[in-house]
Amino acid sequence: MPGPKRNLNLNTVPYWEPSYSKKLKYKDYGKKQKYKSHENFHYRGDTKIVGKETDMQECKECHKILPIMAFTTQVLRSDGAWYLKKICRQCHTVNKKETYAVRKNATSKPERCACCHKKKELQIDHIHGSTTFRGWLCRACNTGMGKLGDNLEGVLQAAIYLENDTEKIKETLHKVYNEMFARTQ
Ligand SMILES: [Zn+2]
Ligand SMILES: [Zn+2]
Repeated sequence: MPGPKRNLNLNTVPYWEPSYSKKLKYKDYGKKQKYKSHENFHYRGDTKIVGKETDMQECKECHKILPIMAFTTQVLRSDGAWYLKKICRQCHTVNKKETYAVRKNATSKPERCACCHKKKELQIDHIHGSTTFRGWLCRACNTGMGKLGDNLEGVLQAAIYLENDTEKIKETLHKVYNEMFARTQ
């Protein structure tokens, strides 16, 4: 009997594409799941959780390796099991308190992103690990900088990768800085 049709081009269609998982669920109802990743779950009360109860996971915030009980749920997998957050409960609580305090310290929302100066929906940016408000950023600038490490070293690493010439980087730095200064006057 042929199995469910697979999406062979994984670059354009991920295997968890909804219509595909529906087919899989219907077809395999009452049978053992065919895919290893879907066999990987346990229950926390009535809640189905991805992974084994004995698994350990590193918190992306405090870098402690903790039992997965220390993590709360994040998003649902197609089989109804929850993926867990990448940061532990404790760090999550601290972050939430931080965000709340930063909101109080924030200035009123401007029209433009403090980084790219485009008119966009803005988010509050703060210095990580503190309640210090830094500025209002668009989502792209905020997540982009976050992914580069949220610091100058990370952003410069990317600059050096793009243009491996310190003179050119300095030249562009001055050009961008002057344009930015002209814009914000
Ligand atoms: Zn943590
Ligand atoms: Zn921006």
